[in-house]
Amino acid sequence: MLKFLLQGLALSSLTERAPPPADDAMAELASRLESASRRKLGRSLSIREVDAGSCNACELEIHALNNAFYDLERFGLRFVASPRHADVLLVTGPMTKNMREAVERTYAATPDPKWVVAVGDCACSGGLYAESYACEGGVDKVIPVDLHIRGCPPEPVALLEGLIALVEA
Ligand code: SF4
Repeated sequence: MLKFLLQGLALSSLTERAPPPADDAMAELASRLESASRRKLGRSLSIREVDAGSCNACELEIHALNNAFYDLERFGLRFVASPRHADVLLVTGPMTKNMREAVERTYAATPDPKWVVAVGDCACSGGLYAESYACEGGVDKVIPVDLHIRGCPPEPVALLEGLIALVEA
């Protein structure tokens, strides 16, 4: 037991080094964020994840942000269960017709100021499902989007870069 405790003390932290905010995310946010709104919130943001019709691979990558390696909470970002407690809506998947009303109601239930982040190619533009009869297309067909994070699915580091840009902007 003592041997394992000493090994644990000798090892360095497993946590990944923080990536810098993505340049394109900063540029997109710079044209959208109101500094007055940003100042109201400080540097801590609560995130509500909304699945608008994802294949769930985007969710798996988002879920990885909470593990000990990426450790999202050290950046002042945390997931919450209710949109009423959220500053950021993280939306995945193409906007399916069946989820349209739920997404609109979630957006309406989120207090201002709020930001919408479209995660993955499907949320950005409809992706693989853009031509489907069951989909509206990208999330911005239904609610305004402040930041697009592309990829199918985007890697956790790409998600972190975008979310850190949101905190830094
Ligand atoms: S972007 Fe790719 S991984 Fe994400 S929901 Fe669409 S198909 Fe799935």
